[in-house]
Amino acid sequence: MIPPIANNFVAGEDAPAALNHARALNADGVGAILNLLGEHYDERTEAVADAAAYCGLVDDIAGTDLDACISVKPSQIGLDVSESVYRENLADIVDRARERDVFVWMDMEGHTTTDTTLDAFEAEVTDYPKMGLCVQSNLKRTREDLERLVDLPGTVRLVKGAYTPPKELAYREKSEVNRRYRADLEYLFEHADHVAVGSHDPEMISHALDLHDGFGTDFEIQMLMGVRETAQFALADAGYEVNQYVPYGGKWLQYFYRRVRERKENALFALRAVVGN
Ligand SMILES: Cc1cc2nc3c(=O)[nH]c(=O)nc-3n(C[C@H](O)[C@H](O)[C@H](O)COP(=O)(O)OP(=O)(O)OC[C@H]3O[C@@H](n4cnc5c(N)ncnc54)[C@H](O)[C@@H]3O)c2cc1C
Repeated sequence: MIPPIANNFVAGEDAPAALNHARALNADGVGAILNLLGEHYDERTEAVADAAAYCGLVDDIAGTDLDACISVKPSQIGLDVSESVYRENLADIVDRARERDVFVWMDMEGHTTTDTTLDAFEAEVTDYPKMGLCVQSNLKRTREDLERLVDLPGTVRLVKGAYTPPKELAYREKSEVNRRYRADLEYLFEHADHVAVGSHDPEMISHALDLHDGFGTDFEIQMLMGVRETAQFALADAGYEVNQYVPYGGKWLQYFYRRVRERKENALFALRAVVGN
């Protein structure tokens, strides 16, 4: 069982727990992006099993009236095994999503996977536009990728980037990443039909609201479960589209550890829970 402290960041160990969380979010006006935890599989069988689990999740979502969709990591469905295994598994998930009319997000991983992920997205989204791809503003190549993506169907989720690529390929200074993120948001609001703002940063959210006022472009805000949830609900109350990224599954420990490490407040919060205060 997931201990109460990790429950803040992870919805539970199985799909029913994730769907229950989605239902509670929906009651407060927030949509759910469900992510089965798992990544970097070396074995085809593991990748196929998670792809099958996503197909099952698509069926579960379609069998309800929930405002929910899925988000898949490439290395979870075979990218580290081979490109063909990855493509086959992705095609299975997208085929099922098309049959059941469920939106599919693709997460973006380390810089060595960007081209393969973009190519796979392009191949699928051309037939099924209810898809979105995450793009990282800390990569120097991103403007060119956005120019390619705004000509395709589908939606871009813009994030700052959770990985640390080599400095020849990426901006490392926080201020520079923020500057790039603002500029990329501007580009998307000017050229895309819909923008997903994947950030907890109040400055970036307020920049997006200004850009929406200026360009009139439709947008949504995406934040992680357990992070700035008061702001998530307040934005939804104010009438903005907010979707929460909701991880679940047996592999919760590593994910929880990452959330705790990235922020001092989370670490203190975890410590307080352990010492029982
Ligand atoms: C929905 C979603 C999906 C994502 N998918 C991917 C992906 O596929 N690939 C990828 O590389 N990255 C992904 N990320 C992670 C992203 O790249 C960033 O690493 C992460 O969001 C931190 O950047 P930030 O813009 O939220 O804020 P930061 O630059 O980390 O912080 C800026 C400000 O935001 C606020 N803030 C940030 N975190 C917290 C917190 N924990 N608690 C309270 N306030 C906080 C604070 O005011 C802080 O000063 C995703 C993020 C989200 C929200």
